[in-house]
Amino acid sequence: MDVFELTRALVDIESITNNEERAGNYLYDHLARLAARFGGRAERMEVEPRRFNVFAQWGERLTVTLSTHIDTVPPFFASREDGAHIWGRGACDSKGIIAAMIKAVEALLEAGERGFGLLLVVGEERDSAGAYRAAQTPRGSRYLVTGEPTENKLALGSKGALRYEVAAAGKMAHSAYPELGDSAIHKLIAALADIEHIPLPVDRLLGASTLNIGTISGGRAPNVIADEAHADIMIRLVGKSGGIKRALARAAKGRVELRQVIEIPALRLNAVEGIPTTVVAYTTDIPAFGGQWGEPFLIGPGSIHVAHTLEERVPKQQLIEAVEIYQRIIRQLCNRESKQEY
Ligand SMILES: [Zn+2]
Repeated sequence: MDVFELTRALVDIESITNNEERAGNYLYDHLARLAARFGGRAERMEVEPRRFNVFAQWGERLTVTLSTHIDTVPPFFASREDGAHIWGRGACDSKGIIAAMIKAVEALLEAGERGFGLLLVVGEERDSAGAYRAAQTPRGSRYLVTGEPTENKLALGSKGALRYEVAAAGKMAHSAYPELGDSAIHKLIAALADIEHIPLPVDRLLGASTLNIGTISGGRAPNVIADEAHADIMIRLVGKSGGIKRALARAAKGRVELRQVIEIPALRLNAVEGIPTTVVAYTTDIPAFGGQWGEPFLIGPGSIHVAHTLEERVPKQQLIEAVEIYQRIIRQLCNRESKQEY
């Protein structure tokens, strides 16, 4: 099977988050055969009943682990291809990536190389359950090459995310007698006006941190003083969040309640010589691994702009290039590791 056939075979096994079992079994069988042929070992790493990561390793020492996810977003649609692209759910996010990683591993094994592994996880599209599970049982890997669509450029960083719910409470009254009530909306507006203007950091690599007041709602009628109001805000982080959190707390004080919903830190990643670089705005499994599988890198074929859409596809040319790039990265990182030793 070449990289195109393998990509299509994987796309055609539906594996929407929580239903990864069949794709996991297919990948386990494939990697177990490669393990038997080249003196490696393959395992299912259980995450919960009928959900498991697949891990395979060749060589006693694990220097580099290639990793991406098995699950996709809904809805499922089967593969097709034309001259330039393979289409289908997961074509670029991330079944084409799995196929390119497997073909890279096969080529290195044929060439007699060892010291690397392949870790395919469940749940990335929902809550990174598979990555959190893998982080509990590290195998001594020094470098983790995570695959997500970056158009085959090494991501040097990705913005983080910080999300809050903002709630204001007041007291209802007839709007002709505002002194008898306490407007939740007026308090929310005052707080949001300050929040909108809190200073946000700019990072040389990742650019500006940005803030969006994404929703606002509240109140009952034009002639009623509002007793409740709320808003949702989302900040894209480019560095530490402490300063932003303190400024938000000052803007909220005495007017609204802030509830933090999610925080995913901004990431800075390293380069590998000779491979073009980029910066991405989305988040990945990398924070969930917590460094337990080694220093992280991020690269993969395909564009994030078509991931999660009904036009999902991956350029065939980028799949072929990715097979070469993953081999090159493994070789360079293994080389880097042995130089550090002597
Ligand atoms: Zn993905």
